[in-house]
Parts: sequence; structure tokens; C-alpha cells
Amino acid sequence: ASRDEGRPPPARRVFGIETEFGVTCASTRGGPPPLDADQAARELFEPVVQRGRSSNVFTRSGGRLYLDVGSHPEYATAECDRLEDLLAQDRAGELVMADLADQATSRLSRAGVDGRVHLLKTNSDTQGNGFGCHENYLVHRRSSFLDEVRALVPHLVTRQLLVGSGHILPAAGGAPARYVLSQRADQVWETVSSATTRARPMVNTRDEPLARAEDYRRVHVIVGDSNIAQGSTLLKVASVDLLLDYLESGGDLSDLALADPVRAVRDTCRDLTGGALLERDMGGTITAREVQEEHLRRVRSHVQYHRDLTGLQAAALDLWERGLQAVAAGDPDLVADELDWAAKLRLLTRLTERLGTDLSDPRAARLALAYHDVSATAGLRDRLEASGALRCYVDREACQAAVDTPPATTRAHLRGRAVALAEDTRQDLTVDWVSLRLDDGSLPVISLRDPFASADERVDALMAEMESRSGRLSAGV
Ligand code: ATP
Ligand code: MG
Ligand code: MG
Repeated sequence: ASRDEGRPPPARRVFGIETEFGVTCASTRGGPPPLDADQAARELFEPVVQRGRSSNVFTRSGGRLYLDVGSHPEYATAECDRLEDLLAQDRAGELVMADLADQATSRLSRAGVDGRVHLLKTNSDTQGNGFGCHENYLVHRRSSFLDEVRALVPHLVTRQLLVGSGHILPAAGGAPARYVLSQRADQVWETVSSATTRARPMVNTRDEPLARAEDYRRVHVIVGDSNIAQGSTLLKVASVDLLLDYLESGGDLSDLALADPVRAVRDTCRDLTGGALLERDMGGTITAREVQEEHLRRVRSHVQYHRDLTGLQAAALDLWERGLQAVAAGDPDLVADELDWAAKLRLLTRLTERLGTDLSDPRAARLALAYHDVSATAGLRDRLEASGALRCYVDREACQAAVDTPPATTRAHLRGRAVALAEDTRQDLTVDWVSLRLDDGSLPVISLRDPFASADERVDALMAEMESRSGRLSAGV
């Protein structure tokens, strides 16, 4: 019998990450902030609006750049089906935002305003308002969709032990400032729901597959932290992808269900050793670390028989295991070059030891902010990566290239190329995740409901038409 007999077909899945950024404008001379967050966000988007006549545009990378009401600019990566593409596209979002921030700072300076615009890839502002980082995973439409989503909850509650971004909880009620795993833990109020704003669930189940609705659904995870370290992003997405694979092949996680996930997410957040005792649905307790160990064990035994792992998937499983060992040993330094919360804690510990101070020192808060600042100069990421203090899984060149190159293996390839041609030839194209249309209405709307289709004759024809028009336009015909 062939080796493949009885195996499910190799699954492809698209995934994408949306990141909301915090924006501030600080005086460079220690004065009061020259612009508030709303004004800074509007200043930031000036060139976007100039170019696209909208604060909601799709980019040459196939991603989406937008500013909603409120002051949190967002970058949603193109849909990817390879982890290396996702890491590159996610970083490309940071590069785009950093570039917009630099341009805004220059414009302010030319206008004689003393201010520097900062973009922070983090999850709460100084007033304590939360904002998000969403992950999106394509799954087949099945009647068991909600069960599978609920089955992910114990993982989403406890994964902060690995992929949390770390957070300084300010001093309160006589207790000193302390370091916890995640900013986001205290911002969730429900497990699974179709509402996002009022009740902030871990997974949003609004039925918007952004693909052929008969065949697909989208798992829209809204409880993650924004990550800086590529290792954290890699592990965050690879683990959910593989867990979905396990569930879709009939795997069961129901024995790991928690009695009170919203309480568990807060308890997990506050114990860096993974020792938080969580009540199980079936009775009894389990530690947060044990929940993670059990998830890893099941994924490993699943892939052993059903999956050939890609290099980055294998790296993610290895990191998952080493991360849990570091947590168990109470020695986060073991993964401080790969996982955000450990990396940031190492920097903070060095600082407070050197200054003989503690985490309530404003210099500690400033260091923590600099960790999340996406600027090449004001932020720490580039220096940490260059010195090897933060490990790169995808190199700088690939990330820079992703700013205007879409992933080659999904429909984002079609979208990104069409957007590029429209920009270069100054033609108006209306774009969303599932369609393309020339604004003059001369050609029918092209619907792109297959996220895996990276070639399409209708798009070729559309682009040929745009090319020929631009020839006619420039020839003055
Ligand atoms: P909101 O900002 O209100 O949460 P949203 O999540 O519905 O909106 P976007 O912010 O536009 O929508 O982001 C969509 C994300 O989903 C992108 O990162 C994109 O790559 C990804 N995506 C697109 N199509 C699919 C799909 N079929 N399955 C899974 N993910 C997808
Ligand atoms: Mg979004
Ligand atoms: Mg979203």
C-alpha cells in the first residue's frame, strides 16, 4: 500500500493578520504633544488619501491599509498560504506604517511644528483603550464549525504563555508594578460571539468568509497580541493552523474545555511560570502550561501520521516545545531571542538592574514602548535583529520586497498586480478581498471567490485592457 493511503489530502489554508496600530505625536523638546491621536492619524494618512482619494485602500502587496473612525490605522495583510509569506507581509505592514510616520514627521517639521509621529504595534494606549490584532484562517464550511471554534478556546486562553507580547501592569492598590504575559487578556469578555465591540469575544463568528460562501468559512480570532518578534508571529499562526488541521481531521480537544475561560485568560496572564490553576469543564483543575503541553502533544501525534511539515511548521513546533520548557524552568531567557514577552522582559530586567529601579520607573515604560515602536530609528526591533538578539525567520530583503509584492500563490497575486497597474497608469480600480472592477463601468465586475486562484484569465484581460487604454491615453487618442 502506498504511504499516502488513508491520509487526508494535503490541506492548503489561507491566513492573514490585521493589525491596528497606536499613534502618538510627541514633542521632540519635551513639550506637550503638538497633535492628539486623531490629528496625528489624519496627518499620517494624508499621502494615502492624496493617492487613493480614500482612507481605505488596497496596496500593491494585495493588503489593505485603512483608517476607520477613531485613531487606529490598520494594515491587513494579503491572504497567504505560506508562513514565510505571512511573516514577510506582516513585517511589510510595519514598514509601510513606519514610512508613513517618517513622512508625517517631515511634513510637520517643514510646517514648523515640533513633533515626531510614532506608530506603536501594541494593544493599548496610554488611556488604557484597547485595540486589536486579528488572525484569519480559512476553513471548509461544515455544520461543526461552531464546535471547532469553541474547541480552540483553551488554546487561545493559554497560548499567551508563548505568544503574549508582555505587559507592565501598573502599580495599584499598594501592589508594585509587575510584568504579565499580555495586554489583551484583560480586554476580552466572552469566548465566541458574532458581536465585536460591546462584548469583545476571543473569536468573532460573524459569517463573512471572504470566499465562496457555499464552501468556506473564516475563523476570525480577535484575542491575540500584536507581535514584534517573528518567532511569536510564526508560532501564533502555525499553531492555530495545525490545530485546525487536527480538528478538521476529526481530532478532539473537548476534554480540555475550561469552566470559565474569561477568568482563565486573566489568571494565565498573571503567572509567568504557567502555573495558573484553571478549572476544567469536566471538573478538577489543570495548569495553563499543561493545557499547552497537551495541545502540542496532540498536534505532534497528528502530524506524525497525516502531514509533511514545511520547514517553518517544523520550526514552529520546535519553538512551541522550547517555549514551554523555558516557562516550566522559570527561565524565559532561554527563548528571549524568539518570543516577545521573554525578549521584552530581558530588556526591562537589564534596565532596572542597571538603574537600580523597578518597573514603575517611567524609563521602564519608555523602553517597553520603544520595543513596540515600528520606526527603524525610534524602535528597538531593527537593532535587536541586527545584533542577533531577536531571531529572523524571514530576512530583511524579503520583508522589504513584500511592501509592493503580493504573495505569489493566492488570489492576492491577482489583486496586487492589478492595483500596481492601476496606480502606474492612473486608472481607477475598485478593489476588495473578493472582487475587482474598473470604475468607469466598461467591464463587468470580476468576482474572485477562490482564495487559492493565483491565475485568472478575466484578470489578464482586465489588465490587457488597462494597458491598452493607458497606451491610448498617453498617445492622446
Ligand atoms: P474588521 O477590521 O472589522 O475586523 P475584517 O476582519 O472583516 O474587518 P479586514 O480588516 O479587511 O476584514 O481583514 C481581512 C483579513 O482576512 C485579511 O488579513 C485577509 O488577508 C484575510 N482574508 C481574506 N480572505 C480570507 C479568507 N477567505 N479566509 C481567511 N482569511 C482571509
Ligand atoms: Mg480589519
Ligand atoms: Mg478583523
